[in-house]
Amino acid sequence: MPSPAFEPGRLRLARELRSLSQTELAAQAEITGAAVSQFESGATRPTQATIEGLAVALKVPTEFFGLPDDETHEGFFRSLRRTTVTDRRRARAIAHIAHDVVVLGAAEQRHTKADIPRLPASGLETSADEMEKTAAKVRQAWRVPAGPIQNVVGLVEGHGIVVIRLPLDSADVDAFSLPFADHPVVVLGSDKNDRARSRFDASHELGHLVVHGHEVWGLPQVERQAHEFAAAFLMPKNEIQRELPTSVDWGLLFELKRKWQVSLAALLMRARTLGRMSEGTYLTAIKAASARGWRRVEPVAIGEPERPELLSNMLRSRRGHLRALPDDIVATVAAELPGPDRAAKIERKAR
Ligand SMILES: [Zn+2]
Repeated sequence: MPSPAFEPGRLRLARELRSLSQTELAAQAEITGAAVSQFESGATRPTQATIEGLAVALKVPTEFFGLPDDETHEGFFRSLRRTTVTDRRRARAIAHIAHDVVVLGAAEQRHTKADIPRLPASGLETSADEMEKTAAKVRQAWRVPAGPIQNVVGLVEGHGIVVIRLPLDSADVDAFSLPFADHPVVVLGSDKNDRARSRFDASHELGHLVVHGHEVWGLPQVERQAHEFAAAFLMPKNEIQRELPTSVDWGLLFELKRKWQVSLAALLMRARTLGRMSEGTYLTAIKAASARGWRRVEPVAIGEPERPELLSNMLRSRRGHLRALPDDIVATVAAELPGPDRAAKIERKAR
């Protein structure tokens, strides 16, 4: 029997899926920590028996180690607080599996690759207008009709971006993305269950994919650009400017929230950015919102967060091609909007 294929990056990925350190994995697989480190760096190659032992310890099929190793940057690691590193790496590893599901499924279902306009920023310090223009170009390239975007998740999925929802609270991020060239993955937090916020997060990550791609990530200026992109993408200046109030008119703001499906916070920020509201008026509004507890939970319910469908559609069909992937993680990426019970169950199963 020929020895199975082995990609070093896949070992690290599997280890991160299980939130194990190299030492912990070594203990479970009954090998040395140094051996794990050498397998992961590619310095040495494990024997077939060792690969089988690693597969058991990591609860992955042995074929998992033979899948292509498609690396992306780790840009969403904005800070490196120790307590969250393992959770972030695990979230990132799960996003990798979502990418695997689509790549392995796409071969069978002839799914088209992503068509994302690449419009890099002119630099780190950009004028307020630059992201406005970039967002307008993306809307134009994708033929998005004027007005509020009906379904942001559906729109980006239609252009080949894989969207999944995961509980991200423990990873200390709201959302993140991995810029794979064929099918980038956007991960949205499922903990908040807030439609407006989730639409903004999805647009923010789209901004990263359009403006930053593989290049610069994790800097405050880059975050600002993604934020400006998201605001302009969801609320184009020439369409919303005259609708925004110049005073703290909650009635009108509630109406605009329902229409544009964005948060009151985003509307207020937009009113300030576009010069409809003075700085003073804006601060008055923010203070009033804080005093009413609206900074934590906003009024005006606009419905459930948008549901990703691309991946679940792929998983609904024959799953034979996914035999190289760990079942429990595939179940995790397939869980569209796991409630607390279901998410906890998946988490427990995965550990
Ligand atoms: Zn960001």
